[in-house]
Amino acid sequence: MDPILEQYYALENKVLAYNPNLDKAKLFDAFKYADSAHSSQQRKDGSPYITHPLAVASIVADLELDQDSIIAAMLHDTIEDTGATHEEVAQRFGTTVADLVEGVTKLTRVQFNTREEKQMENLRKMLLAMSKDIRVVLVKICDRLHNMRTMQYQSPEKQIIKCRETMDVYAPLAHRLGMQKIKWELEDTSLRYLAPKEYTEITNYLQKHHEKDEAFMQSIQFKITDRLNAMGIQNTTYGRIKHVYSIYRKMLAQDKTIDQIYDLFAIRIIVNSVKDCYAALGVIHEMYKPIPGRFKDYIAMPKANMYQSIHTTVIGNSGHPFEVQI
Ligand code: MN
Repeated sequence: MDPILEQYYALENKVLAYNPNLDKAKLFDAFKYADSAHSSQQRKDGSPYITHPLAVASIVADLELDQDSIIAAMLHDTIEDTGATHEEVAQRFGTTVADLVEGVTKLTRVQFNTREEKQMENLRKMLLAMSKDIRVVLVKICDRLHNMRTMQYQSPEKQIIKCRETMDVYAPLAHRLGMQKIKWELEDTSLRYLAPKEYTEITNYLQKHHEKDEAFMQSIQFKITDRLNAMGIQNTTYGRIKHVYSIYRKMLAQDKTIDQIYDLFAIRIIVNSVKDCYAALGVIHEMYKPIPGRFKDYIAMPKANMYQSIHTTVIGNSGHPFEVQI
């Protein structure tokens, strides 16, 4: 099959998996419309432009957003880059889709020419306010993520500008909207261009220690699961290695090299109730010695984005600290 059609059907299947009521004819029509609108354009890597909206729509589908968001993602660059108009898009795909596409276009046109934190905060607020429909911001963040994934084809100047903008505007927005995984990828990819030496140093280190780290994390994960189960606290417990940018920040803040940073891991424990959170905390502190000053109760004091959990850092039996999020 034609690789672009293949990419299209992969998207359709991804959406159908969580939305069996998808209007397949309408999605295909959006694909055809975008394909012909962008037919004279190419991506910087030489591939047909349509591969970009297809990829963005696929990231939007990873978030399991509704049909209008998927179609808007497919059309998100048509008003900006081609002869398409709001009226035409509205006639063919409905007003909601046209409004979403126009909203994304407006965000694309905003210039970020400040690096001052206070002004950045105002900008982020403005972006949220400009988008009466939150789906506009979600699609825009997915657009930026795909542009970050293909950043190697941009000029060095453009790489720096785009990566700073991503760090200053899009990663904090993704964070505020609770899109943790996307936030991590935005930050890590930006770091790759903003601090290439440090980025390589950290990723090489993580690769080299991968097996040992995985084994360490698994053994802790098993011990915690066992103990919580024995105490009658139902739980899902898993470990993860922190993302590159958060390790980089630690190295900077503590003025340390990577082998002096020990808490590279976080264990996440999900339980059924607030009461169980505090009970699990008691179990953890009984199993492992907590490090003073590292305990945070975001259940009693939620973060600005409504995030609620308990964080503590404890010392494992091997003497290595690790973070626990309950
Ligand atoms: Mn785009």
